[in-house]
Amino acid sequence: MTKLGRELASKGVNVISLSVGEPDFNTPEHVKQAAKEALDENYTRYSPVPGYPELRKAIVNKLKKENGLDYDISQIVVSTGAKQSLSNAILTLINPGDEVIIPTPYWVSYSEMVTLAEGKSVFINTTIESDFKITPEELEAAITPKSKVFMFSSPCNPTGSVYTKAELEGLVRVFERHPDIYIISDEIYEHINFIGKHESIAQFEGIKDRVILINGFSKAFAMTGWRLGYLAANQEIASANDKLQGQTTSGTCSIAQRAGIVALEAGLETVVDMKEAFARRRELVYNLLKDIPGVKTNLPQGAFYFFPDISSFFGKKDLNGNVIRDSANLALYLLNEAHVATVGGDSFGNNNYIRLSYAASDENLREALRRMKEALGKLR
Ligand code: PLP
Repeated sequence: MTKLGRELASKGVNVISLSVGEPDFNTPEHVKQAAKEALDENYTRYSPVPGYPELRKAIVNKLKKENGLDYDISQIVVSTGAKQSLSNAILTLINPGDEVIIPTPYWVSYSEMVTLAEGKSVFINTTIESDFKITPEELEAAITPKSKVFMFSSPCNPTGSVYTKAELEGLVRVFERHPDIYIISDEIYEHINFIGKHESIAQFEGIKDRVILINGFSKAFAMTGWRLGYLAANQEIASANDKLQGQTTSGTCSIAQRAGIVALEAGLETVVDMKEAFARRRELVYNLLKDIPGVKTNLPQGAFYFFPDISSFFGKKDLNGNVIRDSANLALYLLNEAHVATVGGDSFGNNNYIRLSYAASDENLREALRRMKEALGKLR
C-alpha cells in the first residue's frame, strides 16, 4: 500500500500515508553528532560480529536500569535491526516441522521467518473484544509436542495492545508447565506505552533463561534507517546467534553502533517528547474513528497504530459497482477514493480489520479521517 500510495502521489495526487511503520520524527541531534564523530575517529572498519563491547555494555546497563534485568555482555548480540535479531532467533531455534505459536494479528514477517526456517506457524486468533490479547487457556490449547517457540510483540504491531504484568504472569504459569518452549519477546515498541511502565516477560526468573528478548533503536530513537537492533538471551542461544551472524551479515554498521551507544546513554528525554505527541494523536484518532459509522475501534494501549474492525463494509459496493470483499479491497478503495493509504488486516493475519498508523501530523490525521468517513459513507 505504501508503494501504491507513492505511485499515486508521484502522479500529483495528494495522498496521506497512514500505512508506514516508522516514527515521523528525526533522529535526535546528539545521536547524529555521535555518528559524525565516529566517522572522524575512523570507526569505519569491521566491528566484532556481536557488536562493539561498549555498545553491548550500554545495552546491558539499559536492560538493568530500565527493565530490572540482569544480563552479561556475552548474552547480547547486536544486529542490523530487531528484524534481523528475530530472524536469527528463529533460524537458531527452529528445525523443520517445529511449531511456532503466534497470536494473531502479528507483525507480517513473523510467519514468513518461520516458513523460511521450515517451521510451522500455529496461530491463536484474537479479536478487538479482548483487545487482541490471548488468555492462558488459549495458549495452553495451542501447545502440542511439536511446539518449540512462542513469539509475540508487546506493545504490539499492528494492534497497539500491551500485556500487563498480571497478564504476562498468566502466560508464564503456562510456560512453566512446558519447559521445552522458548519465548521470543519483541519489545521494539517498549517506550511507546500509554498504560504505564513497560513489562518484559523476561522479568519472570523461572522462564528468563528461555526468553529471547528482542529490541532495537528504530522506534525509540527514530533510527529506522540506521539498522541497529539486538537480542538478549542465554549464553548458548546468544553464541549460536553470533555464529550464524558471522556467516551472514557480520557485525552491523560501525557508525550506527557508535551512535547507538550515545542514544542509550543520553537518557530518554527525546523519547518522552515523542511519546507525548503520540499520546495526543492517539486521542485525536480515537475520537475521529469512533465517529465513523460502521467502524469499530478500541483504544490501543501502545505503539502508534489503530486496528479497527471494518468488516461491516464487506459485501457493500462502491459507486462503480465493485464489491468490497475483504480488508485488502477496502484498503485499496480508501486509497483510490479517499487518497488515504492504510494496510488491510489480512497482511497481519486478521482480515476483518485495517491498520492505521498515526505516525503523521495532527493536520494530516484530521484530514485523512475526514476523507475516510466521507468515502466509507459512499459505500452501499
Ligand atoms: N518488530 C516489530 C513488531 C516491528 O513493527 C518492526 C518494524 O516495523 C520490527 C520488529 C523491526 O524493527 P527494526 O527496524 O529494528 O528491524
